[in-house]
Amino acid sequence: MDTPPLMARTAIYPGSFDPLTNGHLAIIQRGLKVFDRLVVAVANNPAKSPLFSVEERKRLIREALGDDPRVEVDAFEGLLVDYCRRTGVHTVIRGLRAVSDFEYEFQLANMNRKLLPDFEAVFVMTGEDYFYVSARLVREIAKFGGDVSGLVPPNVAEGLRKKMAGARLP
Ligand code: ADP
Repeated sequence: MDTPPLMARTAIYPGSFDPLTNGHLAIIQRGLKVFDRLVVAVANNPAKSPLFSVEERKRLIREALGDDPRVEVDAFEGLLVDYCRRTGVHTVIRGLRAVSDFEYEFQLANMNRKLLPDFEAVFVMTGEDYFYVSARLVREIAKFGGDVSGLVPPNVAEGLRKKMAGARLP
């Protein structure tokens, strides 16, 4: 078999990441087994009234990842397919937790392919450790003063504590 040309494979990992959870981190680590480079793309959707601003979310992700050169952290507004066109990366990874995720993701992937014909979605299944973790539940727990350690990286737990105390993050 001929050796294929050396070409770095890149995928976008889009989401709200409000905030980043250990579930997201597991998907990033698994994604890096398949792709050489990932662009974690924070969706800016003010209509969702996010807890953390886009800049705060990006910084929390960057901090949690350390200086891994294989992962870039970016943000986008508007349609994912337009962001794909702009970056020239037409493959995304998405995490699947349960059957309930599947129905929505299936619909989304097909709609995106309708809008951008060579759009490709690759699904990474979460492990037993984090299938029950969602950013929405993490926000709820933090709101009522619950313990989120083990669900999010330490810097995000700290960010949540500050946010709940009404502080603006630097
Ligand atoms: P959430 O659903 O937690 O609010 P996002 O909108 O930020 O998260 O999700 C971005 C992507 O990450 C989606 O594909 C979502 O299914 C996936 N994801 C989120 N949490 C987990 C988890 N615990 N395990 C696997 N995938 C996850």
